[in-house]
Amino acid sequence: MSISEKTPRWQQELANAIRNVDELYKRLNLKEIFSDNEECHVEKAQNKELISEAIRQFPVLVTESFLKRMTPADSSDPLLLQILPTIQEVDKIPGFGLDPVGDSRAIFAPGIMQKYQGRALMITLGQCAIHCRYCFRRKFPYQQSPKSLEQWEASLKKLQENPSIEEIILSGGDPLVLNDRRLGQLLEQLESISHLQRVRVHTRLPIVLPSRVTDELLKLFLYSRLQPIFVVHANHPNEIVDDCADALHQVVRAGIPVLNQAVLLRGINDTTETQAELCNRLINLGVIPYYLHQLDRVDGAAHFEVSPEAGIKMIEELKQLLPGYAVPKYVREIPGKPGKTELK
Ligand SMILES: *Cc1c(COP(=O)(O)O)cnc(C)c1O
Ligand code: SF4
Repeated sequence: MSISEKTPRWQQELANAIRNVDELYKRLNLKEIFSDNEECHVEKAQNKELISEAIRQFPVLVTESFLKRMTPADSSDPLLLQILPTIQEVDKIPGFGLDPVGDSRAIFAPGIMQKYQGRALMITLGQCAIHCRYCFRRKFPYQQSPKSLEQWEASLKKLQENPSIEEIILSGGDPLVLNDRRLGQLLEQLESISHLQRVRVHTRLPIVLPSRVTDELLKLFLYSRLQPIFVVHANHPNEIVDDCADALHQVVRAGIPVLNQAVLLRGINDTTETQAELCNRLINLGVIPYYLHQLDRVDGAAHFEVSPEAGIKMIEELKQLLPGYAVPKYVREIPGKPGKTELK
């Protein structure tokens, strides 16, 4: 059997993801829209250079599945805006920085962070299946995390020595980029830590690479001693369709609790109608809206920011439209606080 036959479909799809901005423009018929807007040649060249700089800082990455949910030739498509590099990203804005949530101060052992009581977060790996332009970890020093299971040993030992930690959060990057074999090995190691009760998976893969959700993957978690909880990340109702909706439903049907966290993003999901539709689509699939995050103030993301006042008003309106369980908590992360801080 050739390698390609043995490689699971999701891995092939990830390998074939779009990593080139010109290809992205071409696939969505955007080139013309952008060139029409820029009549002056000098400005055009300058903008091209700024976009190149944005891409050098954080490369373009988007899967075919996510791309299919965008409307061609629409430069304000809410899914496109999440992944399209723009010239605003290279602006240096006061109040925005490299480590907006104090991650570097919360390192408990290499690759493991603890900020909150009872929960530790593992930077499983730096890779994702999509690059979200607003990501607060776009500047994270992933190379400092352990790479192989052997390298993880010392950090897992530290975890073993801290019985107050009951929940391990697999984060990244995206932990489901690990293949089933490596994920299984990691789970086994975690299961051997007797005081751990739960494993939480922070992943965007069911949204952006739905083929990652397979029976084999779900079995890994269903047969685990640890109670699994999946926390996915969708920002807009247009994301929750087709293969993505099927994948979410599959996880829910398997009996794994699934929660969603979204980030409040200007021009993408900052209206009450959009949020209400997102929450409705989620609960119709059995996914509970968990958090709506105020944007973390990372360099390059300032143009996505919505004011907390506008966010609070939106949540108040959502409470009048939706069942209580369907309204996410609107939170922001303040470094040094014992949990996420609710905005109200
Ligand atoms: C957000 C976060 C958690 C999880 O917080 P919950 O409120 O339990 O969802 C845990 N650890 C770190 C470092 C975090 O940033
Ligand atoms: S999937 Fe998550 S970690 Fe990866 S770029 Fe997007 S927001 Fe950041």
